[in-house]
Amino acid sequence: MAAITIRELTKVYPGGVRALDALDLDVADGEFFALLGPSGCGKTTLLRTVAGLETATAGTIRLDGADVTRLPPGRRDVGMVFQDYALFPHMTVLDNIAYPLRVKKRGRAARHERAAEAGRYLGLEGLEGRRPGELSGGQQQRVALARALVAEPRVYLLDEPLSNLDARLRLEARTFLKRLQRELAVTTVFVTHDQAEALALADRIAVMEAGRIRQLGTPVEVFRRPANLFVASFIGSTPMNLLPGRVRADGVAVAGAVLPVPDEARGRVGEGEALVCGVRPEYLHYGSDPKDGAFGGRVSVVEHLGGSSLVTMDVEGEPVHVVVGEGREPEPGDEGWALPRPDRVLLYRDG
Ligand code: ATP
Repeated sequence: MAAITIRELTKVYPGGVRALDALDLDVADGEFFALLGPSGCGKTTLLRTVAGLETATAGTIRLDGADVTRLPPGRRDVGMVFQDYALFPHMTVLDNIAYPLRVKKRGRAARHERAAEAGRYLGLEGLEGRRPGELSGGQQQRVALARALVAEPRVYLLDEPLSNLDARLRLEARTFLKRLQRELAVTTVFVTHDQAEALALADRIAVMEAGRIRQLGTPVEVFRRPANLFVASFIGSTPMNLLPGRVRADGVAVAGAVLPVPDEARGRVGEGEALVCGVRPEYLHYGSDPKDGAFGGRVSVVEHLGGSSLVTMDVEGEPVHVVVGEGREPEPGDEGWALPRPDRVLLYRDG
C-alpha cells in the first residue's frame, strides 16, 4: 500500500501535445480513486506516467514519499490493468496469472500455488488450463486482475478495466471490484469513461480537462457542487440545465422566474451581474400549476428513461430538461411548470 504524491507533473509528447500540464494530485493510502474527463484530457497518460510506461517531461511522482519519477516500471511496484487486459494469448490462464512471479524468479511450484489461489479468489476455478481466447470478456478481465493481484503491488492502476464487458456483467464486475478493493485496501487509481461507474466505485474523483484537474472531491461533492461550468456541464447522466440569469435586488432572474440567491453565493454576486444558473433535471419538480420561482413553458419532448422520463420544456426559447417520475409524465404540447429545489440551484460566472 502506498500514498501517491504528484507535483507539477508535465508530459509533452514528441510532436508537442501537452497531455499533462503541471498537474498536482494526492491519492491517500488505500484510497479508491477515479479519473474522469473527456476523451484526450490526459487520463491514460497520467496512469502510464505513474506506472513508468511514459517518462515525465517535468515534475515528480512519489510513492509513500519515495521519488519514483525516474525509476523503470519494474522497480516502481505498481500493477497496471489495461483496457485490453494484455494477456498472453499462448499461455494458459494459470501461467498468465503466475507471470509476475516468474519475472520475480519464484520457483514453479510456488508460482502455481499462488496463481491458483488468486484464481480461486477471483472465481476462475476450472478455467486454469484454458487460453485467453477460450474465455469470455468478464473471465479475461478477472484473469488480468488475478495477475495484478499475485504481483502484490503497492498501487493498482486500472485503465478502463470494465469497458469490454456488456451492461450486466459490467455491473457485476463493478460490485466485485469494489469489494475486492475494500478487502485488499490497496491504493487504486482507475480511469473510466463511465460516470456512473466513477460515482459508484470511487472514494474520490478527479475531473480532468486538457491535462489539468478541474475538480477533486467525493462523488457527492462533484455531483452536487460542481466547482465550475466545465465540471457542471460534464458530470451527470442527463446534462445539467445551464440558463442565463441576472442578479436583481430580490434574487436571480432566470428564464422568466426569480430564484433566491443560494446561501454560498450570497455576498459574492452583485446586482446587475450576468451569471449562468445551473439546475440538474433531477432537482426540478414538474407540475401543471403555476408556482413562484418555477419555470413556465410548453412541453416539447417526453423521453422514457425506464422508471422515469426526461421531459424537455420550451421556457422562453430555452430548452429546460426535467426528470419526471413514472405516472406523472405530461404530454407533448402541455403547459407546465418546473420548480427548482432551492438548495440545489448553482450559480456560475461565465468563463
Ligand atoms: P481517452 O479517454 O480518449 O482514452 P485520455 O484522457 O486517456 O483519452 P490520453 O490518451 O492520455 O487521453 O491522451 C492525451 C493527449 O495526448 C491526447 O491529445 C492524445 O492525442 C495525446 N497522446 C496520447 N498518446 C500519445 C502519443 N504516444 N504520442 C503523441 N500524442 C499522444
